[in-house]
Amino acid sequence: MNSFQTPSESMDQPANREFTQNLFLRISDDLFGIWHKEGYWQPLNPAWEKVLGWTEEELRSHTSWELIHPDDRDRTIAHFTSTEAVECEHRLRHQDGSYRWLAWKLIPVEDGRLYGVGKNITETKHTEAKLKERIEFEQLITSLSHQFIQLSSDGIEDAIKHTLEKIGKFCECDRTYMALFSEDTATASMIQEWDAPGVSSIQPQWQDFPTASYPWGMAKLRNLETIQISRRSDLPPEANSLKQALELTGAKSIAIVPIAQGNHLIGYLGCSTVNAEKIWSDDILSLLQIIGGIFANALSRQQAESQLRESERRFRAVFNQTFQLSSLLTLEGNVVADNQTATDFCQLDSSQVIGYPFWQLKCWTISAETQQQLQTAIAEAATGKTIRYEADILAPDQSVITIDFSLKPLRKENGEIELLIAEGRDISDRKQAEAKLQTAMVELEQRVEERTHELQHINEQLQAEILQHQQTEAELRNSEQQFRRVFDEAPIGMTLADLNDRYIRVNRSFYTMLGYSQSEVMALSFKDITHPDELALEIPYMQQLIKGEIDSFQLEKRYIKKNKDLVWVNLTLIALRDKKGEFLYTLAMVEDITERKQAMEALRQSEARYRAIVEDQTELICRFKADGTFTFVNDAYCRYFNKQRSELIGYRFKPQIPEIDQEFVNQQFKTLSVEQPIVTYEHRVILPDNEIRWQQWTERVMFDNEGNIVEFQGVGRDITPLKKAEAEIIKALEKERELSELRSSFVSLVSHEFRTPLTAILSSSELLDRYSKKLTDEKKKAHHQRIQIAVSRMTQLLDDVLTIGKAEAGKLTFKPASMNLIAFCQDIVDTLQMSISQQHSINFVCHGDCGDAQMDEKLLQHILNNLISNAIKYSSQGSEVKVELTCEGESAIFHIQDQGIGIPPEDIKKLFSSFQRAGNVGTIQGTGLGLAIVKKCVDLHGGLITVESEVGKGTTFTIILPLQSMAE
Ligand code: ADP
Repeated sequence: MNSFQTPSESMDQPANREFTQNLFLRISDDLFGIWHKEGYWQPLNPAWEKVLGWTEEELRSHTSWELIHPDDRDRTIAHFTSTEAVECEHRLRHQDGSYRWLAWKLIPVEDGRLYGVGKNITETKHTEAKLKERIEFEQLITSLSHQFIQLSSDGIEDAIKHTLEKIGKFCECDRTYMALFSEDTATASMIQEWDAPGVSSIQPQWQDFPTASYPWGMAKLRNLETIQISRRSDLPPEANSLKQALELTGAKSIAIVPIAQGNHLIGYLGCSTVNAEKIWSDDILSLLQIIGGIFANALSRQQAESQLRESERRFRAVFNQTFQLSSLLTLEGNVVADNQTATDFCQLDSSQVIGYPFWQLKCWTISAETQQQLQTAIAEAATGKTIRYEADILAPDQSVITIDFSLKPLRKENGEIELLIAEGRDISDRKQAEAKLQTAMVELEQRVEERTHELQHINEQLQAEILQHQQTEAELRNSEQQFRRVFDEAPIGMTLADLNDRYIRVNRSFYTMLGYSQSEVMALSFKDITHPDELALEIPYMQQLIKGEIDSFQLEKRYIKKNKDLVWVNLTLIALRDKKGEFLYTLAMVEDITERKQAMEALRQSEARYRAIVEDQTELICRFKADGTFTFVNDAYCRYFNKQRSELIGYRFKPQIPEIDQEFVNQQFKTLSVEQPIVTYEHRVILPDNEIRWQQWTERVMFDNEGNIVEFQGVGRDITPLKKAEAEIIKALEKERELSELRSSFVSLVSHEFRTPLTAILSSSELLDRYSKKLTDEKKKAHHQRIQIAVSRMTQLLDDVLTIGKAEAGKLTFKPASMNLIAFCQDIVDTLQMSISQQHSINFVCHGDCGDAQMDEKLLQHILNNLISNAIKYSSQGSEVKVELTCEGESAIFHIQDQGIGIPPEDIKKLFSSFQRAGNVGTIQGTGLGLAIVKKCVDLHGGLITVESEVGKGTTFTIILPLQSMAE
């Protein structure tokens, strides 16, 4: 330490003295100065600037008080105002804001001034502080480890909590916590936390969180490495999730150390700061690591203790709940513990038992000998022997019970005998049973005596039975051999297999069927030789068989032969079980059905072919039973009746037959018999759309051997077009017949009607020729008139024949033209009137506007001529014929009325046909063609003709024609 001399000491020469002083002052590292009570130092040596960083001017501009650390200020003032020489320490602020520790020696001079020399002791102070910290740190560790060592496992949680607070405060962080991992380290939960005042708790959020979310941190912890982050931003990108977690919890820096038991990571201990970033010193990190270790030890101790406690609890429970009376005794025989059974038995509290000599317990006081025997036994057991004997003791109800009593030494780990275990089991029941047994034995012996005699007799019988049994056995063996032969030589394949599908026995038929040798087949299982398709079917059956759900099953399947060919078989598999129903073997019987299958296949193909043929038929084919239920219908049938096959098969279906045909159809079915099994007939049906069609059916009935009807088969076809053609042919034939009738009528007419006028012409012309000179002019004129009438009649006749012939042939044309109907009618009436002179009077009247009509004049002439002529012809001379024309609306109505012979009602209908005449015509000549022509002409006009007549009174024909007929 530098020192300086006071001005009063050893300075001979003032100049020298000053020079020397200045030199010392300049080179010294200590601060020199004179303190003025106004609060400043004057003068200042260069060490001031060196130590505090301020220039001399800057120092002078501050009062010294301002630079003193606020905590040191009061103390400094006290020292600086002292009138004694003092030594003191305080901190002065450096120009960079930090403080420097200075140790001052101060000597007061006059007017309150002080001579002072200050030494920079900052380094020393820091070292001291560090030392102090280190001591505290070590003290903390020592105290914590002490605390944990002395803790019972119950107090560990509290201790951890307390420790977290301590290290939090010591490390000057804001939050400390401990978390434990699940057994597989997949999740972790924070179990303890300490937070500095004002810092919020995060424990509730950090429960059962998945550790996989923090791979970076977990990798480090799994390597048992410490994590220390001074600045959140220092975290590498792969620790992004950890960074987010820190942001979430507000942690600016953290230090985390793993807690491990051996190498097994069980949790971690964490410190974090919330208010400021923190550099984690090595001391802090090692403190955390040490504490982590302490926690790990404490936790494993807690676990071990809890396991031990659990184990103890279990054993105690067993001890208490055992039915035996159990007690623990000292080697001297005093009771240490009693189990529940024993306590209950003695009906005493533990407190009344524990500590007392065992033999003095009430139950042992049955007799002095018993107690003595017990004491001896205890003494012997204390030497290491196990003692066991039956003892009679007193039950609480004063009854005597016998116990099986034992005493065993309980040794410590080093083999030293520590306690004795006394156990007693109530064997009174057993004893009583033994006594009963004894009595029973005596009785039994007596009975045995009696039975021996009986047995001798039975024995003889038995001998006989055994003989019989031996015979049966021989038979059985025989039978077994027979069975074996049957098995081996059976024409069908037979196998015996065990639970694991191994063949135990296979017969010749089986292996030859498959083309293998016996040994080759024996090396296989059914799975190896079964076609995969059927294997899938067979395995579930096998499982059911083994489970006992079924006793046997049958299956058609394919085996794969050695040469890979397939063989179809019918397999019958039977489970063989023992008496208890346990599965022993499977017995399989295998029948080669390849040929049958091939035949079936051929049949199936044939059936398919025939089916296709039947289905393709246009004929309707169906089969139905006697009750009408359908068993088959082809497509054509379904289509015809617009039905789905599913609507018909299995149902009764009767096509709708018109009532008129129903009885007929029923009759046809009734004709069927064994002798006449087929019938063909035709009838009409009403289709679903109400169309009526003709069908032809050939029904065939099939009988069984007893002559009962099995089924009907119907083959039908639609013959509607045929029927139509037939009807047309019939119609044509009818026409033909009519025409031929017409022709013959015509021939007879010609032969008759022409003969009469021709005869008249011939006779008149002969008379005229032969007697022309003799005949008077009058007679000649009469003959000429006769000839003319005959000719005109023939002409009329020919006209009519031609017209009707034309009409029948459809060649009568209709050519309406504009005409004056009144004038036309008047003209016809006048002409006729002239030809008939005054024999009849024809009265023509007309109503309405008939001036302009559109009709065919020629046809209208036929109509009116014929009707008016008939009216004249069939009425007596002098009578009146009335012709009335009325034009109304669009029709012209003609009434032709006479007072003649009339027409019998039965003849009226036929009169409009050719050559038809009424029965009352008598000798009045006629051809029967007139009205037929009239009808045709009216029809061509689109008109109507009616007739009203009364025999003897007269006839009225009414014709209605459209006024304006149009050509077709
Ligand atoms: P016919 O040449 O026989 O007169 P029609 O065809 O003109 O042939 O008449 C057919 C039949 O109708 C007649 O034969 C007759 O029997 C009967 N007839 C027609 N008109 C009359 C009438 N006005 N009075 C009575 N009978 C009539």
